[in-house]
Amino acid sequence: MSQLTEQDAGWTGIYLSPMAPRRADFAQACGPLFARLDLADSPEAALALLAAQAPRLLIVDLERFEPGIDLDALGGLLARRGGARVLLLCPFANARWLPLLNASGPAAYAVTPIEAPRLQDVVRACLETPAGGAPAADAGALRALLALRARVQAALEEGEEESLAERLCRALLAWPGVLHAAMFQLRGDNDLQLEAESGRGPAAGLRLAALLQRGERLLQAPLRHAFPGLLAAASGELVLLDTLEQAGEPALAETLGAHGVVQALGIPVPADGPGAPRGALSLLLDDGAALAPEVFDTLRDCAAMAALGQRQIDMNIESEQLLARLTYVSTMDALTGVANRRHGEELLEREVRRARRYRTPLALLSFDIDRFKAINDNYGHPVGDVVLRTVADCVRAVLRSSDVLVRSGGEEFHVIAPHTSAIDGLKMAEKIRQAVEQAAIPGCDHVTVSLGVAQLGEQESADSLSRRVDAAMARAKRAGRNCVELAMQ
Ligand code: GH3
Ligand code: MG
Ligand code: MG
Repeated sequence: MSQLTEQDAGWTGIYLSPMAPRRADFAQACGPLFARLDLADSPEAALALLAAQAPRLLIVDLERFEPGIDLDALGGLLARRGGARVLLLCPFANARWLPLLNASGPAAYAVTPIEAPRLQDVVRACLETPAGGAPAADAGALRALLALRARVQAALEEGEEESLAERLCRALLAWPGVLHAAMFQLRGDNDLQLEAESGRGPAAGLRLAALLQRGERLLQAPLRHAFPGLLAAASGELVLLDTLEQAGEPALAETLGAHGVVQALGIPVPADGPGAPRGALSLLLDDGAALAPEVFDTLRDCAAMAALGQRQIDMNIESEQLLARLTYVSTMDALTGVANRRHGEELLEREVRRARRYRTPLALLSFDIDRFKAINDNYGHPVGDVVLRTVADCVRAVLRSSDVLVRSGGEEFHVIAPHTSAIDGLKMAEKIRQAVEQAAIPGCDHVTVSLGVAQLGEQESADSLSRRVDAAMARAKRAGRNCVELAMQ
């Protein structure tokens, strides 16, 4: 620490930064504004200086400090400020400091990097204005924040016509001062996508996909270090540009400026657990005024609500997938992938009702693999399973999409064939018989099937139809196998 300037009149100040060049730069830019400016290189040194004198202004330059490591020390320092006013110099890419340090009392802030003349203005305002430059929300601003919370909450509950991201963007856009709102979201495989955006006034035509040169794979976009929404999604930190040039991308600053944007925010949308965030909200504002603590709190809560809404959607999708899986597992035969017996019975009941109602023909076919026991005995059970799968595949290939193949048990199958008469059923059965006979089966000889065919009688039940067709199939076995028998009425 060192004493740098002493002027006839004015206030004293303490500047804290662990970086020697920044201490020197600040002393050069702003030293003349103070009667005396002390420089501290650590929170402890600043605390000792605070105890020794009662400065007008304590400036904490947060560059190089880490919230995870230094929050306690810096919070403690600010809490023991006494009568000193506080100015935080906060790196644009790490604006999380601002809500964190709000807990230690009111503070003015400026976002860095910052040009010397602007820094001087900010320091002067802190020294000279009654409130010391700390931003505060008036009643109107607080009402607007409450309305924003309510709108974001409502956006989570609205119907299905618009996506959650679209509803959130519209809710954010209605907050006074917002010219453009967007939501970025991480999809599988680290693909950050622009989910939705909404602009008004001079930013009505602003399209981030054009500005960022793409709408997906945005973590690889050239402006990922500079555009607050992207940076927030990549780093998980709150990002705040209170002058657009801070990000070091003049073209970006120029385009946003041309759309009336003065200030830009990126708010990370938290993930469920530790690790990368789920995405980010991007807000582009039409004025550069410092944001009150309540604004940071509200925006953090909005991002948390967005995360919750997304989690809810993810859970619904997971439930639907589970249900689909459950339906599949409970209706399909695991070995062959065709309908299982129980599902087949339901489908047959339904087709019988439909055929009666619309007076259309319905055929039921039954077939059984010939001498299948011998295949198991000669080649082993695993080959037997391959035979079952091959037969099922080869029969499926000759069926129409409206026909349903059912594995009714062991090596017995049924085919439900709507809009099919006995004559057509016989043709179908013959096609199946030939297809199976010709099918090549890996590791095994050819196999044959014996088939029965029945057409639903006018008053007949599904049970009776099944019994008749199975009896016809048994007759085909007795007739020497590898043939088709028509059921008797
Ligand atoms: P038939 O021509 O009279 O139908 O003679 P078959 O040998 O096919 O008749 P049987 O009903 O005596 O034998 C059926 C065999 O099917 C007995 C059983 O071990 C076998 N089997 C039933 N389910 C499976 C299965 O899931 N996998 C395998 N590999 N074999 C099965
Ligand atoms: Mg058999
Ligand atoms: Mg059998």
